[in-house]
Amino acid sequence: MVDVQWWLSGYDSQVHAFRTEQAGRDFGEALCEHSVPTAKITCTDEGRRCMACLLLVGDLLAERLDATWRAS
Ligand SMILES: [Zn+2]
Repeated sequence: MVDVQWWLSGYDSQVHAFRTEQAGRDFGEALCEHSVPTAKITCTDEGRRCMACLLLVGDLLAERLDATWRAS
C-alpha cells in the first residue's frame, strides 16, 4: 500500500493525502502540495476528498503495481 493517510484539512475542508512519515511535524504537506498546520488537521477521512490527491495516490499505486509486476 501507499504510505499515506487521508486527513481532513481545516483550511479548505477537504480530505487530503498526507505522507505518514510527516507525523510529529508542525506542518503537514499533502501530496497535492496543500500545506496545513497540524493543529488544523483532523484525523478523519470522512469528507470530500481532494481530487488532486486522489489522482496522485492513483499514480503512486500504479507505480507500485508496475514494480511488482516487473519483479515477478
Ligand atoms: Zn490534496
